[in-house]
Amino acid sequence: MIIQPRIRGFICTTAHPEGCATNVHEQIAHVRGQGAIEGLPKRVLVLGCSTGYGLASRIVTTFAGGARTIGVSFEKAPTETKTASAGWYNNRAFEQEARAAGQEALTIEGDAFSDELKQQVIEAVRAQFGQVDLLVYSMAAPARTHPKTGELLRSAIKPLGEAVRLKTLNTEKGEVYETEILPATDEEAAATVAVMGGEDWGMWIDALQAAGVLADGFRTLNYTYLGSDLTWPIYWHGTLGKAKEDVDRMAATLRERLGPDAARVVALKAVVTQASSAIPVVPLYGTVLFSVMKEMGLHEGCIEQIDRLFRTRFALGSETDKAGRLRVDDWELSAPVQAEVLRRWPLLSTQTMGELADIEEYRAQFLRLFGFGLAGVDYDKDADPMSVPALA
Ligand code: NAD
Repeated sequence: MIIQPRIRGFICTTAHPEGCATNVHEQIAHVRGQGAIEGLPKRVLVLGCSTGYGLASRIVTTFAGGARTIGVSFEKAPTETKTASAGWYNNRAFEQEARAAGQEALTIEGDAFSDELKQQVIEAVRAQFGQVDLLVYSMAAPARTHPKTGELLRSAIKPLGEAVRLKTLNTEKGEVYETEILPATDEEAAATVAVMGGEDWGMWIDALQAAGVLADGFRTLNYTYLGSDLTWPIYWHGTLGKAKEDVDRMAATLRERLGPDAARVVALKAVVTQASSAIPVVPLYGTVLFSVMKEMGLHEGCIEQIDRLFRTRFALGSETDKAGRLRVDDWELSAPVQAEVLRRWPLLSTQTMGELADIEEYRAQFLRLFGFGLAGVDYDKDADPMSVPALA
């Protein structure tokens, strides 16, 4: 079949096998081009390994750090008539390239919130690695079935207390408009914390520790977004911020239990991923941010951010902020970048987008998430959604 992007709102329901493989390959090539990083953990577990920051983490630890990895993600497998999720193709492409480089790579696809999957991973850790040196928690999920109560909890990306009026962007039409987002109910806020907060991270560490598979010197990372004035109303001061505060609390608890350097939250910059494109304001903020950071020579995507994290921030004793976080969002939040984004913000309209923002970059990056728009891929060629493209 000819596989084309089919976009519905902020998701694309198709993915291109060869395009996804090319995207993974380009990220691997980028990391190889940066050279090896000495001293990285060698047995790494990545939760949320298939896309965005988790995929980048798996790539950097494998191809710059020489790690063996177990990756966990939630995917849709392909059928003869329907493409798989992009993450499914990404996982296959990653495994192929890791194995070709002589690096062990096992992927387990399923619900990482469940007790069953945790047990499955523990068995795999015992069989493959013996123990784990590093766990990267990079999950972003819209919902979670709580493993103890069976309750299905759905996150809601909303402000707290009062409604907010915000400028936002219809990325398909390129239209800028104002929207009002009503505040979350207490139940919605609590559910968001349950889905995106620190509880599941803690449950993973508990399960691994109880099974005796945490290595001496074990470390764990969890990713967060802090943002600035423009995103605070919907992010840090809203339900997601509450969830991320909960992640910070869990990090502090884990440090008390496992040692002062064992658990770190890492603040990362805003990038285009499946998770971030669902957050109101973030796509509009992203289009301006990308334009400003490109002009200042500071543009980074997932792979550049995670490469910088492991290359410059990961060593024991690295500088943290007051809350104990490692910061790789420093360029995004630097005074010149924020001043320019803030200057442009009130001037943004459908008419001025072309001059003040970079919607084309945003759209291109969004399509790339699903394997579209990559150079060297023939999108007019018949593609089999069940086939895994061989390594070039
Ligand atoms: P993403 O949507 O690209 O990736 C999410 C991953 O979680 C995927 O691999 C997906 O398969 C996996 N996943 C979802 N539900 C699962 C489940 N039930 N079981 C197993 N795996 C599951 O997201 P992302 O943007 O890379 O986000 C990862 C982390 O980075 C999040 O904590 C996010 O808050 C943080 N972060 C993102 C940004 C950004 O701009 N995207 C910025 C800073 C921090």
